[in-house]
Amino acid sequence: MKKIYLASPHMSEEKYEEKYVKEAFDTNWLSTVGENLNKFEESVREYLGVKASVALASGTSAIHLGLKSLGVEKDDIVFVSDLTFSASVNPIIYQDATPVFIDSEPSTWNMSPKALEKAFEKYIPKAVVVVHLYGRATRMEEIVKICEKHNVPILEDAAEGLGTIYKGKYLGTYGKFGALSFNGNKIITTTGGGMLVSNDEQKIAKARFWSTQSKDPARHYQHSEIGYNYRMSNVLAGIGRGQIQVLERRIAKKNEIFNRYKEAFKDIEDIEMMPENEDERSNQWLSALTLRENSKVKYLDIIEALEKENIESRPVWKPMHLQPIFEKYDFINHNDNGISVGEDLFNRGVCLPSDTKMTEEEQNRVIRIIKSLF
Ligand SMILES: *Cc1c(COP(=O)(O)O)cnc(C)c1O
Repeated sequence: MKKIYLASPHMSEEKYEEKYVKEAFDTNWLSTVGENLNKFEESVREYLGVKASVALASGTSAIHLGLKSLGVEKDDIVFVSDLTFSASVNPIIYQDATPVFIDSEPSTWNMSPKALEKAFEKYIPKAVVVVHLYGRATRMEEIVKICEKHNVPILEDAAEGLGTIYKGKYLGTYGKFGALSFNGNKIITTTGGGMLVSNDEQKIAKARFWSTQSKDPARHYQHSEIGYNYRMSNVLAGIGRGQIQVLERRIAKKNEIFNRYKEAFKDIEDIEMMPENEDERSNQWLSALTLRENSKVKYLDIIEALEKENIESRPVWKPMHLQPIFEKYDFINHNDNGISVGEDLFNRGVCLPSDTKMTEEEQNRVIRIIKSLF
């Protein structure tokens, strides 16, 4: 049986990417400088409607330089979504700062405004890292209001959220900074890569400076600041330049996939699809579901049944406050007692195959296997 993936790289049908990569070879711009980089950064600025962007080696490096731009340093507190990938948190540690994990709310699976308020009663953070899971928006109107009240800047981890429009605005444009990822499994990819976006041109210029080893303007190599080798390659930017042209097509396909699952499972009492936000055009990066607490079918049953048929799926993120490396940091629960919302979602959630290369036939196979468990 042909393997069905969770989310795999999907180049444009027109092979735009190959054309731009070939251009890089033909012109010998095979470094971290060149036309593909300029054009890729420009296309993302135009798409999101932001003033500044810098293409980087990864989403993680984008989060890192974003935090550094916000002045996060040793012993600062940084609030961060608890239900996420470790890459949202690691850069806080790179800066020797201290994360405080903020629980999710049931209606979005994303940062709970209520838990965030509770956290502000306890700490004064330097920044808040807000993650948008699986392409669904955090309730940014609430989060922004709370952070403005306390005068604390937001860095959006929009690694999974490129293309989602929430209440008329793209994810990644609500905060002072937005971090994007072009890792192989994301909605568009450069094989590996990321971008930091903002309306603050000076701050992005500084991030660009840091990303190429902080070389002072001098004939010899002179450095007055610590630098990083975080810049994206011009070859990979060529892939991004092609991919951005099919982003809307990928979003349409991801929505078809989600809607087909939703329709197929609507009569199964034990299955609930990840809730949808009002006034949101989601990129539907991953279709996720939860099983009712008393369901006889558990999330592992689904994952194992699919695995037997060569189909990839995975659990919802394991919350950061439950990770061995991060256990020692504080966690703010959305619930007043009992287990957190994030842990509950982890216990009952599955991310389903959401590969844009998947055919309708293949998706029906996935659906049949899951239905047969009930
Ligand atoms: C993928 C991802 C990242 C990191 O991106 P990389 O490009 O892999 O470094 C960060 N946060 C979240 C939520 C992600 O899903």
